[in-house]
Parts: sequence; structure tokens; C-alpha cells
Amino acid sequence: MGDLLVSDPDEVALLGPQRASEQWSFYEKAAPRLQAGDQALIARMETTLAAVMAQIDCTACGRCCAHMGPAVSTDEAGLLAAALAVSAEDLRRRYLRPMWPGAAADDQVWLLPDPCPLHDGRLCTVYAARPQVCRDFPQAVGANAAERLAIWVDMARICPITYHTVERLLIAENDPTAANGA
Ligand code: SF4
Ligand code: SF4
Repeated sequence: MGDLLVSDPDEVALLGPQRASEQWSFYEKAAPRLQAGDQALIARMETTLAAVMAQIDCTACGRCCAHMGPAVSTDEAGLLAAALAVSAEDLRRRYLRPMWPGAAADDQVWLLPDPCPLHDGRLCTVYAARPQVCRDFPQAVGANAAERLAIWVDMARICPITYHTVERLLIAENDPTAANGA
């Protein structure tokens, strides 16, 4: 593979499913090591992700906004309502959906639907007020490194950043001298 990354999400949508089986095989081998605290692999995950993120422009993509359905806390809902200049009630009615329809208000979790109605096809229209889940993807997802890698592999079918990160990790695993071309 050369140095050029496929940043077109439509191309990744074609490539990702073709590579899914091999990427999940890599995950199955890597997960036990990550759970055992393999610091070299954890560090490689972070440096590889950072290198790929530096080469791919999220503003030309936005595909994760069509697949996440992030949870919105009460504080985050307040920020979104302010950004959209709507009341909290209007925010829920027009933009959010309940995780558990019919649940008591105190037990309810509110979600942005997927695709997210706050994406205009190119950009997030509430970027400064976006929920934490949106801020965290893909660099801070998962409770630990193994879960993070699982999320990256899962999202590699739609996300150019996680697709190339997983491909580079996979290549480095198979051939440590050819780590950074995918
Ligand atoms: S994180 Fe991935 S899916 Fe989301 S906008 Fe960036 S490249 Fe696209
Ligand atoms: S709030 Fe913004 S960043 Fe989050 S899913 Fe919607 S459009 Fe994407």
C-alpha cells in the first residue's frame, strides 16, 4: 500500500466491508494482549490514530454523524437548546428521541437519532455545543483499549480514519517494518 489514504467515505464504504473479516481477525488476536496491558500496542494505537487523523479532514466526511445516535445528557441538552434557540421541550420534540419510550422522566435517556438531524450534509450545525460522545469519537471511545479497538473495527466500514488506523495496525502486526503505509 502507498502513502495515500482513501479519505472519500464512499470508497471506504466499499472497502470497509471487504476488509471487515481480516480486521476482526486482527482484533481477536489483539484484544487479549490489550486486556493484559500491552503498552506497546496501546501506544501504537494512539500514535497511529493521531497520524491518520492528521491526514483526513472530517469536515469533508461527517459519516459518523449518520451512525452514532449519541446520548445527550441534561446539561448537554441545555447547551443544544441554547445553540438552536429552542426550549428544552422543543429540543426533545423536534430533535431527540427517547431510549425507553414511556419510561419515567427521571429514568429516561435522550438520544440524537441517526442520521443526526443537526448535520447539514457537510458540517455539524452545533459544533461548539455538540455532546461529549461526538467529541470523543474516534480518539476517546470505549472504556479501555480493547473496547476502543472493537469500536474502531466496527466503524471502519464507514469511517476513513478508523478504517486506515485499523489497516495500519494490522499491517504493523504482520510486518513491523511496513507499519505506516495503509
Ligand atoms: S471521525 Fe471518521 S466518520 Fe467521522 S467525520 Fe471524521 S473521518 Fe468521517
Ligand atoms: S451533534 Fe453534531 S457532531 Fe454530534 S452527531 Fe450530530 S451533527 Fe454529528
